[in-house]
Amino acid sequence: MTQSNPFSLAGKVALVTGANTGLGQGIAIAMAQAGADIVAVGRSSANDTEREVAALGRKLHSVYADLERSHEAERIVAQAIDAAGRVDILVNNAGLIRRADALVFTESDWDAALDVNLKTPFFLAQAVAQQLVKVGRPGKVINIASMLSFQGGIRTASYTASKSGLAGITKLLANEWASKGINVNAIAPGYFETNNTSALRSDEQRSKDILARIPAARWGSPADLGGAAVFLASAASDYIHGTILPVDGGWLAR
Ligand code: NAP
Repeated sequence: MTQSNPFSLAGKVALVTGANTGLGQGIAIAMAQAGADIVAVGRSSANDTEREVAALGRKLHSVYADLERSHEAERIVAQAIDAAGRVDILVNNAGLIRRADALVFTESDWDAALDVNLKTPFFLAQAVAQQLVKVGRPGKVINIASMLSFQGGIRTASYTASKSGLAGITKLLANEWASKGINVNAIAPGYFETNNTSALRSDEQRSKDILARIPAARWGSPADLGGAAVFLASAASDYIHGTILPVDGGWLAR
């Protein structure tokens, strides 16, 4: 089915966490455009995304989960397979950021970001890979990293730790699973207009400084991420393992 167009996701099912809003919504819609059905995993209704996916002639199934609870990974993947019949692609997109000076950073702000941004993505990848290996099918894992997988950031201790860790885990899993036909890669978004960056965008000076460094001279919109996600989910990227692909308007080139 996919032979004629290596970028086609026809017949595939993509499990996308946090597909109700922001980048996850953009990724789910782009994957549906490429022919995939979607399993949206999260704690908020994905009705808006479901409407857009249905308008493209694809299905969206919802699985409820609070992704701070990493021990639920097996249950989430089992429910996704029950609903959609299979899972070929995992997009670990859900994430949160906590901002405070390192001098007063709290343990709860540390744990929240490490759990949602790093621990749960690892165990979801493990649960999906176990299913793929069991049935002998190839698959794709895409982790949503960050510029703070490369840079230190400021006032984002737990976020920086989690996203740097996610880049490391992406490479480790690629090393272990490439020979099993499972591609593990990451996308590192630059600065996108979503809830995640509302604090930055409402700080006039920070917002101006950020924009001045982006060669593309604009913030990204969720649709800007879709092509990279479809590429890393498709047969076109079958020989790409362990890469962290920046989609950043040129930010890292400066
Ligand atoms: P967003 O609009 O705030 O979306 C975050 C998503 O994560 C939402 O769907 C949210 O669900 C979900 N989530 C957070 N905690 C959760 C939990 N405990 N259980 C279930 N779902 C949870 O922000 P975004 O920008 O689209 O972020 C998506 C990913 O991109 C994140 O990993 C973020 O770190 C990364 N990223 C974003 C940017 C950017 O510029 N925007 C840059 C680099 C990386 P709710 O709606 O229920 O809260």
